[in-house]
Amino acid sequence: MVDTRQVIIVGSGSAGLTAAIYAARANLAPILFEGAQPGGQLTITTEVENYPGFRDAVMGPDLMKRMHAQAARFGTQIIPAVVESVNLRTKPFEVVADAVRYTSHALIIATGAEAKLLGLKTEEKLMGHGVSACATCDAYFFKNKRVVVVGGGDTAMEEANFLSKFASHVTVVHRRDELRASKIMQERAMQNPKISFVWDSAVEEVLDVDLGKVTGVKLKNLKNGRKTVLETEGLFIGIGHQPNTKLFHAQLELAPNGYIRTFGGTRTSVPGVFAAGDVQDSIYRQAVTAAGSGCMAALDAERYLEELKHASHTLPPAVAAEGEKARAK
Ligand code: NDP
Repeated sequence: MVDTRQVIIVGSGSAGLTAAIYAARANLAPILFEGAQPGGQLTITTEVENYPGFRDAVMGPDLMKRMHAQAARFGTQIIPAVVESVNLRTKPFEVVADAVRYTSHALIIATGAEAKLLGLKTEEKLMGHGVSACATCDAYFFKNKRVVVVGGGDTAMEEANFLSKFASHVTVVHRRDELRASKIMQERAMQNPKISFVWDSAVEEVLDVDLGKVTGVKLKNLKNGRKTVLETEGLFIGIGHQPNTKLFHAQLELAPNGYIRTFGGTRTSVPGVFAAGDVQDSIYRQAVTAAGSGCMAALDAERYLEELKHASHTLPPAVAAEGEKARAK
């Protein structure tokens, strides 16, 4: 017989850990599954300059360590496992991780998002051999080498600026002739003497799979169709992220762009299931907004559990039993 918890949290980025801090302080004794990337995307970034409270910036991994310790301090049971499946069609909800089945009355999904790739065969073959989607992780390997960054958003600008501290030169390849990045990030990249831009161009192939390393990229100018080869030792993909929703397909309503759809706050299409952070936010995607929505999810879950408890006094036996179980924990 499994012990049914009040709330299970899936994901350990700033949304999941903030939800855990709030849920634990509300005496809901949450379980949190860390997932494949404990600490989430901030663990693969360097200085975070826009998280309130840190005048002189904080390192992403350090910030996440602090959140982890804070969640643990209030009694969150943090399990270093990847959730394999969930069943949101039953009550209580079921979660399977490391082949162990867990159940809970409320579920908070904070599975975040991951880097998008170009989808080229050569990119896949050379991933980890000169192709990367994380400058913070891999820039060190490109000391005094030439690198290419693909993308025109803040991610690409941040990667380019960071890489310029190591590489001999950084070329940003963007498919249009204007950047999507914020003004401050654009200016920083434009003023950096080690960064140059190739506009209106797409990477069609990464060279050289036969050599097992990156030696260049084949580019196509999207305005005039001209193809060229740009020599480089590294290729960094900085074209955005996609939400981690694989576990929930066909069980939760998703928006057309693949993010989990939420209704007023963090409620999802299934009562008792809440979504927080990048998995439901295609617009803001900041550490602080993710933390904020983690807090909202915990408060929404707490309110839902209260209603469940209340329902046990006023509703028919089957529904009441559910509320009764929630109260007993
Ligand atoms: P964005 O969606 O903002 O930008 C993605 C970029 O990649 C766009 O320029 C897009 O081109 C390009 N792109 C997308 N798909 C392809 C493709 N298949 N081939 C080539 N190019 C492609 O994502 P970001 O990750 O940059 O930013 C997401 C959010 O996170 C933003 O709100 C941003 O402000 C925030 N952020 C903030 C940071 C900071 O403040 N330090 C750091 C990183 C992100 P096009 O422009 O033509 O669509």
